[in-house]
Amino acid sequence: LSDRLTSVFSSLRAKGRLSDADIDATAREIRIALLEADVALPVVKDFVAHVKERARGAEVSQALNPAQQVVKIVNDELIAILGGETRRLRYAKNPPTVLMLAGLQGAGKTTLAGKLARWLREQGHVPLLVACDLQRPNAVQQLSVMAERAGAAVFAPEPGNGVGDPVEVARRSIEHATRQQHDVVIIDTAGRLGIDQELMRQAADIRDAVRPDEVLFVVDAMIGQDAVTTAQAFMDGVGFDGVVLTKLDGDARGGAALSVRHITGRPIMFASTGEKLEDFDAFHPDRMAGRILDMGDILTLIEQAQKTFDEAEAAKMASKLASGEGFTLDDFLEQMMMVRKMGPIKNLLGMMPGMGQMREQINQVDDKDLDRIAAIIRSMTPGERSEPKIIKGSRRERIARGSGVTVTEVNNLVIRFFEAQKMMKRMSQGMGIPGMPGGRR
Ligand code: GDP
Ligand code: MG
Repeated sequence: LSDRLTSVFSSLRAKGRLSDADIDATAREIRIALLEADVALPVVKDFVAHVKERARGAEVSQALNPAQQVVKIVNDELIAILGGETRRLRYAKNPPTVLMLAGLQGAGKTTLAGKLARWLREQGHVPLLVACDLQRPNAVQQLSVMAERAGAAVFAPEPGNGVGDPVEVARRSIEHATRQQHDVVIIDTAGRLGIDQELMRQAADIRDAVRPDEVLFVVDAMIGQDAVTTAQAFMDGVGFDGVVLTKLDGDARGGAALSVRHITGRPIMFASTGEKLEDFDAFHPDRMAGRILDMGDILTLIEQAQKTFDEAEAAKMASKLASGEGFTLDDFLEQMMMVRKMGPIKNLLGMMPGMGQMREQINQVDDKDLDRIAAIIRSMTPGERSEPKIIKGSRRERIARGSGVTVTEVNNLVIRFFEAQKMMKRMSQGMGIPGMPGGRR
């Protein structure tokens, strides 16, 4: 894919504006990338349409070419969608906190129960694992092994004592946890190979019996396109609050993450990356976005291009700021344009003593103001721009006429400029800008 995009890039390079054609060309590649990552088709369609919309409204970047800019928008959007509303586990006000795991057979629920137990123990909790999968003959045994590895207790029906009902086991486990002072209960449930009504009803019954604080939907990242139907079925049948993606150590590109998030609107909370208990982490939207797009090189390139551009501009501006001398109206205009455009420099200015005021001024200028200021300055002669002192009565009138503003506006601009210049001078006398080329002389 990277190769294909590189060719799109070179054909688009050197154009200054995001045209519909630019957007469409890149959007086609993005669409293919998402489908290759196994994002479900309806989700791809929605997502690409959304990104195109955003790209059309986007301000043109000077650091990136149009294709790179579209890819950046896609990446940012992916991170935003995958990471929207990420949240931690909600603990109950009155323990125990009850977590219930739901999902297809083989999704990784039982393994996850062990991982969660280990993770919770590390944070000082005392979890109890509850075996409510009574379908598979060795399921209880498997959970006990997990619990042992995690150093956690397990609650399971005694063989032959008549407790064969998972709903009853779940209910009793809560009483047990309260008695034994377990502050978190993790309920492992049965799954089937496909979605079936009995499975859903059982899970819903368990849910009703224990009223979990969190129902976590466990889904295998390798499931790909099927993620949509499975997630929808569990959403309708049981309902869930968060998602755990498993088997991310496999070669799946992780399109399931986007599909599930898009279809259910529920946050992806954890990621499972192996069979060992420590192969488990909070979900990282940026990593997943990169994995889905599979444009590592391009994303790195974009990051570098942006950084280099920012640094070059920052250095240029800093040297002018620092010198104070020779600060002209052209510089004034350029600075305003730049500071408005560039977040990082804005922050930098805010951190410099004496510059807070300047930043205030700049922040107050909106785009329309800026256009007017630009028009006024462009109506001046080069001599007037570099030596604004000479801008007096008749010159002011001429400039006002030329730029279609009132003489008062010209006056205000000149006053503003002198204020800024004074500030520059004060700064250059008082201090240099540490680490910046062209600093203190
Ligand atoms: P359950 O049926 O939902 O309880 O799934 P299990 O927890 O029994 O997991 C099914 C299989 O997947 C087991 O062989 C696990 O070892 C394996 N498994 C679970 N999570 C992961 C994971 O994140 N990565 C890998 N590679 N295997 C996993
Ligand atoms: Mg299981």
